Amino acid sequence: MSDSNNSQSGSCQCGEISYSFNQNKIISAHHCHCKDCQRSTGSGKATIIFIAKKNIDIKGEPKYYEVKGSSGSHVRRGFCANCGSGILSYTKELSHIVFIKAGTLEDSSWLKIDSNFFTDSAHDWNKPNEDIKSFKQNPSMLSNIKTLIKSF
Ligand SMILES: [Zn+2]
Ligand SMILES: [Zn+2]
Repeated sequence: MSDSNNSQSGSCQCGEISYSFNQNKIISAHHCHCKDCQRSTGSGKATIIFIAKKNIDIKGEPKYYEVKGSSGSHVRRGFCANCGSGILSYTKELSHIVFIKAGTLEDSSWLKIDSNFFTDSAHDWNKPNEDIKSFKQNPSMLSNIKTLIKSF
């Protein structure tokens, strides 16, 4: 398969911010049921794709809102200042990994979700998918990613 056939893209609602990447380059994908994701999406969870920053091409300047995550890390949530769509986030402590909000993809039919995060705060009206691995919180996320990075 050639790389160009696996190019994926997405954007905010107004199109001011857009991105593209090769789907072969994604690290993993997760449903996150944490309270911050619930607030920022206005929904039961956020579905996020982990990808190295060097492997994604972002056009436009997201505005960032910074919150302190449960593990003490600083999560910067990027959104379009014009239309308000949440596009991506990253932690300051691990800024070479970007978390893309899967709902902003043009086509997400190819996406496979690896696991659920923060199932402790999942709601009955948006229960975690029981077919995949679940983490009650998110304790080892950063160390897991660091391990993955080493293999890059
Ligand atoms: Zn926009
Ligand atoms: Zn979350």
